[in-house]
Amino acid sequence: MSAPAGTAIPCGPAPDGHDAPYWEGLREGELRVQRCSDCRTWLWGPRRMCPNCHGFRLGFEGVPMTGTVYSWCRTHHPYMAEYADRVPYVSVVVELPQAGGVRLLGLLDGDEAAIGDRLAGFIERPSDAAWPLPRWRRTEGGPA
Ligand SMILES: [Zn+2]
Repeated sequence: MSAPAGTAIPCGPAPDGHDAPYWEGLREGELRVQRCSDCRTWLWGPRRMCPNCHGFRLGFEGVPMTGTVYSWCRTHHPYMAEYADRVPYVSVVVELPQAGGVRLLGLLDGDEAAIGDRLAGFIERPSDAAWPLPRWRRTEGGPA
C-alpha cells in the first residue's frame, strides 16, 4: 500500500524563506528548482549563496516533472502520525537530469521502485493542507 493522495503532512516554506519560490511554484502547478543567475549552476536545497561561484543572484526556474530513481526506501514504521494507518509507503530520491542532476526527496505513488526507474511527477493538492506536494509515479519504459 502506498501513501494515498490527499494525505496532509506538515510542509511549506522554511522560516528563512529561501525555498518560498519552490512552494509558490507548486501552488501554481510548476516544479521550480533554484539556479544561479551568474554561473547557471542548479542548486538543491535552496540557499542564499551559490556554492560554485559564491554569487548571490539566485533564481528559480520551472523544470519538467520527470526524473529517475536515484534511491528509494520503503517505510514500515509510522514515523509521522499522519501516516500511522498508511504504512508501508515508498519514498524516492528523484534525480532531475534536466536540472543539472539535482536530487529531490518525494513520495512514490505505488509500491515498487528500482534504482534507475523513470518517473513522472504530479502535484498533489491535499484538501486539508495549505501547501501542495510533488509526488512521483513510475513510467513505462523501465530504467533510464
Ligand atoms: Zn553561481
